[in-house]
Amino acid sequence: MISQIYRNVTCNQCNEVMEYDVFDSVNVTLNPILKDKVINDELFVLTCPKCGKMFYLSYPFTYNDMDVHYMIRYTNNENVDKQKEEFNTFVNTINSELKSNFKELSYKYRIVNEYERLKEKVRIFDRDLDDRIIELYKYEFIVNGYDKELNNLDDIIFVNVDGSAECVFILFEKDVIDNVRAISFDEMEYTRLEKEYEGVINRFNDFEIDLLWAQKVYNSVNINS
Ligand SMILES: [Zn+2]
Repeated sequence: MISQIYRNVTCNQCNEVMEYDVFDSVNVTLNPILKDKVINDELFVLTCPKCGKMFYLSYPFTYNDMDVHYMIRYTNNENVDKQKEEFNTFVNTINSELKSNFKELSYKYRIVNEYERLKEKVRIFDRDLDDRIIELYKYEFIVNGYDKELNNLDDIIFVNVDGSAECVFILFEKDVIDNVRAISFDEMEYTRLEKEYEGVINRFNDFEIDLLWAQKVYNSVNINS
């Protein structure tokens, strides 16, 4: 269901009163145009029709893809703990009441606190990849390659190359000029990781799948070996 709320805001440049939609649920199966809006960052941009001034909005919502079977709660980093709790309750309700539908479809549920993470998850799931393996891929690359304690890492994100199907990891380092590096995504490495962590990752159920999650899983396998 698309729950939609209309709100008003007054342009602080020309006093035009604008109405905008707030989506609690962004269902991209029922409303595919919303997916483009998420990918193009348009969901939170409001342009004054009179003077053209752009306003950036931010609010939490749930992204739901009924075809690919995943739901992502975007918290916009406000009241994160409360939102996590609510999402947990929501998922438990779904799983107990709609067992036949959702559980058998092995719906994936995730929580992200950053908009870039939401878009990254969409890229990953839409390519039929497992975000847990992607996070382990990033983690192994970083700790084995060059930064054991993640001290120099600012961010690492899975992206499409110029909107094509080809994907790379973009790595941002702290305190480094020209701090952006592209790392190719090797499907053989992905397959290797899938095999290596098969049987382990299901023991680490979580809505938040990120590098810290990958660190826990990696340590459980590697720390005593
Ligand atoms: Zn205006």
